[in-house]
Amino acid sequence: MSGARPALIVGNWKMHRTAAESASLARELAERLRPTAGREVAIAPPFTALPGVAAALAGSPIALAAQDIFWESEGPYTGEISALMLQDLGVRHVIIGHSERRRHLGETDHMVNRKVAAALRSDLRPLVCVGEAEAERLAGTAAAVVRDQVLRALEGVAAGEAARLAVAYEPIWAIGTGRAATPGDIVEMHAGIRVTLRTLLGEAGDATRILYGGSVTPANIDGLMASQGVDGALVGGASLKAEDFARICDYR
Ligand code: PEP
Repeated sequence: MSGARPALIVGNWKMHRTAAESASLARELAERLRPTAGREVAIAPPFTALPGVAAALAGSPIALAAQDIFWESEGPYTGEISALMLQDLGVRHVIIGHSERRRHLGETDHMVNRKVAAALRSDLRPLVCVGEAEAERLAGTAAAVVRDQVLRALEGVAAGEAARLAVAYEPIWAIGTGRAATPGDIVEMHAGIRVTLRTLLGEAGDATRILYGGSVTPANIDGLMASQGVDGALVGGASLKAEDFARICDYR
């Protein structure tokens, strides 16, 4: 439960749906979701779908998110997308450092840190993904791995940015596997991340939201959101079905 922090539910569509399919899914979601006080919802379609999804979400409480950002604002960086370009399309949140990018594209903590700084220099709200591999959990190093990822990702971030920032704890072995982490592990890992945020940002670190991601479904969202220290969810597979994502956003 998040206390003073408004809950945040983010749907990550990854590399799914064409622009037309995305706009249609966004329209369906906009029809189903009603604004709820103390709750924010965002969807992150592929870059190619951002303009159509922005139009589909006009007048709805659902915010637009992007799945990545580049750290420079302009220049010879073929294939990259800047903060300015995202803001121009009405993007509000940006996912940074997803484990799939770290694994398939070699994204490092240093790159994640530069992307966080770029998002914060603009008006975007970074959602920084951290999480341990299965071998690290089995070796008992999950908490240390995640602490180091948070420290490196947020190096140089000012305390005044704490409320614009969110961290998603996403154990890699729980993503897309149907094996969500146990409530006990989630509470423990979120508590550890909160301690790290306070180390970095002082008391202001309490304003940063900590989301859980990894096989979140309509069946487990209610228990998840009732757990100590869970301020929201980053949802992959289940965010591609309007009915499921609407139920997740309507958690009790
Ligand atoms: C994700 O994409 O960040 C994610 C958590 O995926 P899934 O919900 O499918 O496990």
